[in-house]
Amino acid sequence: MSGGSRCTPMTLPQAIEEVDMRRFTYMIPKSLDEAISMHVAHGERAKYIAGGTDILIKIKERKAAPDYLISLKHILGPDRPLFSQETGELYIGAFVTHRRIETSKTVRTRYPILHDAVKNIGSVQIRNVATIGGNLVNAVPSADGAIPLIALDAEIRIHGPKGRRSMDLLHFFLGPGQCDLETGEILTEILIPPVLPRTGSAYLKFGRRQAMELPLLGVGVVLSLEEDFKTCCRARIALGVAAPTPMRAIQAEAFLNGKPVDEKTLEEAGKIAAEESRVRDSIRGVAWYRREMVGVLVKRMGRKALQRIHETHGRR
Ligand SMILES: Cc1cc2nc3c(=O)[nH]c(=O)nc-3n(C[C@H](O)[C@H](O)[C@H](O)COP(=O)(O)OP(=O)(O)OC[C@H]3O[C@@H](n4cnc5c(N)ncnc54)[C@H](O)[C@@H]3O)c2cc1C
Repeated sequence: MSGGSRCTPMTLPQAIEEVDMRRFTYMIPKSLDEAISMHVAHGERAKYIAGGTDILIKIKERKAAPDYLISLKHILGPDRPLFSQETGELYIGAFVTHRRIETSKTVRTRYPILHDAVKNIGSVQIRNVATIGGNLVNAVPSADGAIPLIALDAEIRIHGPKGRRSMDLLHFFLGPGQCDLETGEILTEILIPPVLPRTGSAYLKFGRRQAMELPLLGVGVVLSLEEDFKTCCRARIALGVAAPTPMRAIQAEAFLNGKPVDEKTLEEAGKIAAEESRVRDSIRGVAWYRREMVGVLVKRMGRKALQRIHETHGRR
């Protein structure tokens, strides 16, 4: 090549020095139990790493400084969502990448709310390595994976030094960046219970752009209808960035229950959800605007969920 600027070759240690990345020991366990033992041995000086798209940035920005990174990538497990015809449950291993979820036909057809959410996480490159488990454990109020899973009543399974335990996902989040995991515990599975007949769902990440940006809000709605295709028999409304942790708009859900789902009731449900939200001012948007948009988007996602029920059942 001629005329271009010249690069001075760097040796690896020099390159590391230049980006000022903190040094750590990378450990590769082959099983969950081995990973847990490694973590217990090093305590707070160790961190798990799955796709690394959150933890490596934290290390680079000096928000985390582990001496040991314990890889979860080499632990065998299903690499895609698995649907059980027998029980009607969807099982997603925590180490499954967003891209595997996005490209799953089962997820696209049976759980459109989850497909809506994961297809806009970062970029394809990010989705190819970032895991659903890492997204939940990172526990930011804007985690796109959390909102649809909460709206689908997901349960999670955790494996740790004291054995196994399960809990519903909603109560896993304790505060911004904080979740209910003790030292050494690993989030291993996500389980979505059977979806009722005549159910539709939708999610919207609301911001100036759909991808590669922290959203102003995340809104997910799941609606199930009675046999008349009008009356709501179950509603789930989950909100992200509307409180310090992902939340459900319980009062708005209760309002819809037993009522016909139409423009009027969806509008009212949106208003109730807006009142329930605990939005705050931030550099990305002021609280009053966020609250207003909760109302607008709950209505819009409710309408989309309803439309999807009708499409699935060939009704207009
Ligand atoms: C450019 C860019 C764009 C992004 N865009 C989005 C976006 O649009 N929406 C969004 O929600 N996120 C986004 N993210 C954040 C990130 O990609 C996701 O949160 C991702 O899912 C994290 O998964 P990971 O496997 O990379 O986690 P890692 O970085 O490997 O881990 C994250 C944290 O979870 C812990 N951990 C990971 N897995 C487990 C487990 N199974 N059990 C216990 N602890 C565990 C780690 O110790 C670490 O503390 C973006 C990130 C980047 C860099």
